[in-house]
Amino acid sequence: MSAHVLVINSGSSSIKYRLIDPVSGAIAARGLIERIGETGGRIAHVNGGAETVRETEIADHRAGMALAYEMFTEVGPDLSAAEVAAVGHRIVHGGRRFHAPTVLTDEVIAEIERLSVLAPLHNPPNLVGVAAAREKFPDVPHVAVFDTGFFHDLPEAAATYAIDAELAERHGVRRYGFHGTSHDYVSARAAEVLGRDRAEANVIVLHLGNGASASAVRGGRAVETSMGMTPLEGLVMGTRGGDIDPGVLMHLERSAGMDVAALDDLLNHRSGLQGMTGGNDFRTLTERAEAGDEAARHAYQVYVHRLRKYIGAYTAVLGRLDALVFTAGVGENAAGLRADVVAGLEVFGLAIDPERNGSAERGERYISPAGATPAVLVIPTDEELAIARDAWALL
Ligand code: AMP
Repeated sequence: MSAHVLVINSGSSSIKYRLIDPVSGAIAARGLIERIGETGGRIAHVNGGAETVRETEIADHRAGMALAYEMFTEVGPDLSAAEVAAVGHRIVHGGRRFHAPTVLTDEVIAEIERLSVLAPLHNPPNLVGVAAAREKFPDVPHVAVFDTGFFHDLPEAAATYAIDAELAERHGVRRYGFHGTSHDYVSARAAEVLGRDRAEANVIVLHLGNGASASAVRGGRAVETSMGMTPLEGLVMGTRGGDIDPGVLMHLERSAGMDVAALDDLLNHRSGLQGMTGGNDFRTLTERAEAGDEAARHAYQVYVHRLRKYIGAYTAVLGRLDALVFTAGVGENAAGLRADVVAGLEVFGLAIDPERNGSAERGERYISPAGATPAVLVIPTDEELAIARDAWALL
C-alpha cells in the first residue's frame, strides 16, 4: 500500500474519520462515531464497500478513537500496512494567528485553545479529538487544517464590522469566514471545469449543507463570504438562521427575559429550518412543502430568497462572474432548489438547463445551457480529500 493520511473531523459528540491516499484520492476506509458521551453510542466503519456497525456506549473521544482503531484491526484495512504518514485534523477557528496548515505542536495546541473564545462550540471538541488521536498515533505528524484559512486575507472592507474600531481590535471582532476548505477546493475545481487558469476565474460558491455559506472568489482569492466572526452569519441553515438584526437580540433580552445562554441556544439550535418548521433536514422540508405544509413552504421561500440576495450582492462584488457553483448535501442533490434559486436571475445572464439540472448524473457538471455565461455548475465538495492533500503537501 502507498502512504495514507488519516483525516479526523471531531465534533462535540461525534468523530468522522477517513483514511485517504492523498495522491490518488482513493478512500481506503471511512467511519462515523456518534453519540459520544451520550446513550446509544454507535460506530459505522466502511472498508471498501462493506459497512460494519457496532452499537456500544462510548464514554469519551479517547474511547471513540480506540474503537475506530479496533475496527481497523478487526475489519481492516490494516493501519500498519496502510503507512499512515500523517493525521489531518479539521480545526474550525484559526483566528488571526493561523491560516496555513500547521503541525500540531504543544504550543500550537495551546494557541488554538486560546482561540476557543471565538469558537466555543467548535474548537474545544476539535482539540479533544486531536488529543485522543495524538495518543493513538504518537509517532506521526498531526496537522491542523483551518476552516477559516481560505478567508484569512479577505479584503479589509469585507472583513470589518462597522463598530467601535478599538473595541473590535481588542476582542478579535471581525469576519473570519468558515467552510474554507470546501470553498477553496470547489472554486479551484470550478476553474478547472471551466478550462481556465484559476487566476482568471471569478466564481460564487454556494456551500449548502446542514451548515451553509456562500463565497465570492476572484482569481483564487476569497473576496467575500457569508459567515462572519462565527458560523451564525449569512444564509439560512439547518439550525441557524443566518443574518438577523442584532436589535432582535436586545429586544428578546428585554421583552422575553432571555439571557446570553438562551440567545446562544436560539441562534445555534432553534433557528433556520429547525426554528421555522421543527426540522432541520432539507430533504424532509421539500417533501413537506410538496405535500402542502404551509410552514415548510414558507421556510423554503425564506431559504431561496436569502440565496438570491447573496448571488446579486456577490455578483456586484466580483464585477464579472464566470460561474455560479452549487455544492454540499443540498447544493449537490436538490435540483428543484437550484432551479428556484436561479429562476429570474437572467439579469445576470444566469440560466439553468432543466434537462442537465434534473439529470441523475453525479459528479462535476454543467447545469446551465451550453455556452451560457456565467456557467452554472454542480461540483461535489470533498473537504476530507482537501485536508488530506493539505497535510500531505505540508510534509
Ligand atoms: P451536508 O451537511 O453537506 O451533509 O448536507 C446535509 C443536507 O443535505 C441535509 O439537509 C439533507 O437533507 C440534504 N440533502 C441530502 N440529500 C438530499 C436530496 N437528495 N435532496 C435534498 N436535500 C438533500
